[in-house]
Amino acid sequence: MLPGGVLDADGRGHDTVWVRELTGRDEEVLADRRFRSAAAQVTELLARVIVRVDGLDAPVDRELAAAMLVGDRDYLLLRLRQIALGDDVHQVVRCPSPACGEKLDVEFSIAELPIRRVDAVRARYELTLSRPAVSGDDLSGRIVLRLPTGTDQEAIAELVALNPAMANTLLYSRIVLEVGRGRGLSEEAAQALPLGVRHELAAFLDETAPGPDLRIAVQCPTCGVDVAYPFDLESFFLTSGR
Ligand SMILES: [Zn+2]
Repeated sequence: MLPGGVLDADGRGHDTVWVRELTGRDEEVLADRRFRSAAAQVTELLARVIVRVDGLDAPVDRELAAAMLVGDRDYLLLRLRQIALGDDVHQVVRCPSPACGEKLDVEFSIAELPIRRVDAVRARYELTLSRPAVSGDDLSGRIVLRLPTGTDQEAIAELVALNPAMANTLLYSRIVLEVGRGRGLSEEAAQALPLGVRHELAAFLDETAPGPDLRIAVQCPTCGVDVAYPFDLESFFLTSGR
């Protein structure tokens, strides 16, 4: 059961997905470094291992895997990892405190990760901002947007490493469908959004999008700083088989 669901052409969500067990051939896909981005690699993997989506009258292919919500893709990766290699995850990361930088062990169990589930995923969400998105346009406080998918992840993948703010600009220009009475956002318009509005969009996605919560809280044993570190599921998954 996906935390969200795969939307069909009529905007209905389907949340029961069947996957097969990972094989050596999948491990080869995971180890292949020729993919453009980790997101593209996840799309390829999911297109291979999803057997069917109940009630969905569409072939399981890359297009379907890419159209899935980010949180649903993350959830499937976690479940596949759990089925193949068990529940416990152990990873060594660097303490983010610049004065410290020591290695620290991160351990958690996949079964303990909180997962936000939604009753029915929607093709569009309406959001009322605390202020207009475009100054002088009073109607622009109303925004219609959709939730980010694998296709969006693939589109912004390069920018995420280079400049996360530019990645957000591109993401908002992709997922915002209406602003006030106008149609979506150009990249320029997304860039011109007041910072407060961009934060409201980010907070809305954070509170609304279904999927596992990948923020792991640990304390550095060397300097004692509390680290709430966003677990990089894609790179973890893509390297753990190597
Ligand atoms: Zn430290």
